[in-house]
Amino acid sequence: MREKIVAGNWKMNKTLEEARILTTEVMGMVADEVKGKVKTILCVPFPYLAILKNQLGNSAVKIGAQNCSEHDWGAYTGEVSSLMLKSMEIPYVILGHSERRQYFGENGKLLATKVDKALAANLTPIFCCGEPLEIREAGTHEKLVKLQVEESLFHLTAEALKKIVIAYEPVWAIGTGKTASAQQAQEMHAVIRKHLASKYGDSVASEISILYGGSVNAKNAQELFSCPDVDGGLVGGASLKSREFVDIVKAMK
Ligand code: PEP
Repeated sequence: MREKIVAGNWKMNKTLEEARILTTEVMGMVADEVKGKVKTILCVPFPYLAILKNQLGNSAVKIGAQNCSEHDWGAYTGEVSSLMLKSMEIPYVILGHSERRQYFGENGKLLATKVDKALAANLTPIFCCGEPLEIREAGTHEKLVKLQVEESLFHLTAEALKKIVIAYEPVWAIGTGKTASAQQAQEMHAVIRKHLASKYGDSVASEISILYGGSVNAKNAQELFSCPDVDGGLVGGASLKSREFVDIVKAMK
């Protein structure tokens, strides 16, 4: 049975003090109100990983990074490798977020390498895919998203694929306040799952958690999460407010 997951992507936000407060609040509310029914993950900026991991201790809330390098070690100033994250016992890493694709030129081939590095370091990649507005308007969104999945994941064995979490995030819905309708989300999640099934079979595809991301908030989460192929959410802006984020987690129960 695939897992229900809600992950917060803090992006490049919060001072250390603010980050500590937000973590304390989320941890407390999740312990009181969620009771282990939904895996809750906070993907935080690199400098806060060790501190917040320590703060979370053995809480049900897990920690994740927002990226990792395609290299293991060496002269790559400013980069952080999957082996560094492994050495800190960080369990999750977001890969291929549309902001990384757009602002840092990450492409499918590079992301295939990052996925391999993350898996080799025992990290669970939260692999993002999704189409920009012009592709949606041209009606070629299914083709593009299938290609994104193919380019970065289809080299994996079935066993390796089962360790991946996928996040479908239409770029036009990220940070815009414009959410995909539940029907649009369900359609695309079903397309992704069917595409996985075409390569790995139904049983493997049915085990992969596919999260929806794009302006999820406490008001729209329940409808989106009620779709049969939506297994949770990757939440940006709304993950910066503890009450709203935990209400989103609760919408997945
Ligand atoms: C994201 O950054 O992954 C995201 C979905 O952002 P937002 O929820 O703010 O649209």
